[in-house]
Amino acid sequence: MKLPSYVSGTWIEGTDEGTALMDPVTGEELARASTAGIDIGAAMAYGRETGGHALRAMTYGERAQLISAIAETLSANREAYGEIALANSGNTKMDAAIDIDGGIGTLQYFARLGKKLGDARTLLDGRFERLSREESFQAIHLAVPIRGLAVHVNAFNFPSWGLWEKAAVALLAGVPVFAKPATKTALLSQRMVMDVINSSKLPDGALSIVCGAAREISDHLTGADAISFTGSADTANALRTHRNVAASSVRMNVEADSLNTSLLGPDTGPGSPEFSLFVREVAKEMTQKAGQKCTAIRRALVPAALIDEAAEALSAILSNTVTGNPRNEDVTMGPLVDKAQQSEVLQALDQLKAETNIVTGNSAFTPMDADADKACFVAPTLLQCKDPKGAEAVHSVEAFGPVCTLIPYVSTEDAFTLAAQSGGSLAASVFTGDEDFANDAILALGADHGRILVVDESVGQDQTGHGIVMPQCIHGGPGRAGGGEELGGLRSLAFYHQRLAVQGRVDWLRGIAEKAAELGG
Ligand code: NAP
Repeated sequence: MKLPSYVSGTWIEGTDEGTALMDPVTGEELARASTAGIDIGAAMAYGRETGGHALRAMTYGERAQLISAIAETLSANREAYGEIALANSGNTKMDAAIDIDGGIGTLQYFARLGKKLGDARTLLDGRFERLSREESFQAIHLAVPIRGLAVHVNAFNFPSWGLWEKAAVALLAGVPVFAKPATKTALLSQRMVMDVINSSKLPDGALSIVCGAAREISDHLTGADAISFTGSADTANALRTHRNVAASSVRMNVEADSLNTSLLGPDTGPGSPEFSLFVREVAKEMTQKAGQKCTAIRRALVPAALIDEAAEALSAILSNTVTGNPRNEDVTMGPLVDKAQQSEVLQALDQLKAETNIVTGNSAFTPMDADADKACFVAPTLLQCKDPKGAEAVHSVEAFGPVCTLIPYVSTEDAFTLAAQSGGSLAASVFTGDEDFANDAILALGADHGRILVVDESVGQDQTGHGIVMPQCIHGGPGRAGGGEELGGLRSLAFYHQRLAVQGRVDWLRGIAEKAAELGG
């Protein structure tokens, strides 16, 4: 099967062989994807003009209804998506739910949020500003939707959530979406978009998808567009420095690699609830989606006095992981997405092993119900850092799989210094019952992270998880993590709006302000 792209209001297949999409368990080819012969420039112009015109004619409330309709369509077809996620991504049911239901849930959240913005077409940011001696002349700050295209380039690990968490916000803002999923797992994104297009609820040009390389996208970006990228730092840099992106000051958001930290507080001990919650969380983050989550815990910081107990407790949980073919109900961890990822993770592991001891992780394990040679498995591997301060790879190499390194720390200051060595991350978590330690951690870690989860016994059962991105909270991180920011409720709309100061007669401004919705919600 050749996966058609949906561009310029029509389905079209690429003209060459394209790239094969594989089943990472059986090694079987599922489909091919190619954008050869597709006029990407014309497709982008169609979305920008036809889709943009239709969406900007609607209010936020009306666009919220569109988002709600997308969520309804996807919910109605939910069953088929689990099968695709299993075949093309090797997802267990739980992994698939995070991706698929996470995507639908995010759409539903933005549909609800958008409904509250009602009939408005602009957003009001802040208060009236008096500019001169007379009160009659003042200023307000407004945000108006941009007139370009929202180009969404996504990573392979979340073909559903990655697509919809970006699309929900752009569509609510009134900006047409041009989605480019990662080719290797595009099957799910393509099927979902096909269902939405077939439902005929979206205006023409509001949603396009290209399945295949589409490397010429950056050549056709204009200064009116916004590009939101999720993937590796190398690709992000190539896009950022593309002459067209730089010369036209194209808005760009980047979500890239991240060496996320989880920190066990010095107040805890093997019998404490926070210790158990920490151990459970680290093990979950290692094995969920086989560790292929940008937010997964890669470095687990533990008081040096507790390192043996932490290693033992984690090994005990990890020994219950059943790695293999997710078609078998007993399997709890599936494969990596393909052979290329498997070999990248094994290479990263080699680098990490030079600075660590292996606590658990048998590279010669036998996966359940699968042929290890054809499949793309990596065993859950826990490492322990030998020299935390002298280590380099431990703080810089991201093994994008079921891999985590335990790092002993000797003092609070030491812990905070080590945490910062990742050079900027998406998420950190702190497991402590000591409020003073938690307060210090927020100040010490805040500048290097986009999100910090603090867990004590009282929220142990309710907390949403270190690696789970909630649409209410911002997702992104400074430095190495890309310097981007997505989601976070209405804050997310800023990326797709031009903020401007409007100066004029105060009673006229009041009329404008009354018709706008407040950016603060
Ligand atoms: P990748 O190789 O950088 O690819 C990401 C996307 O960029 C894919 O859609 C890819 O298309 C596309 N692409 C590559 N070169 C391009 C170019 N020159 N022009 C336009 N598009 C281009 O990353 P990946 O291997 O899919 O993802 C793994 C990485 O993503 C991990 O390092 C992980 O940390 C990071 N990640 C970050 C987040 C986050 O939210 N921060 C989330 C998930 C993953 P093709 O598929 O066609 O090559």
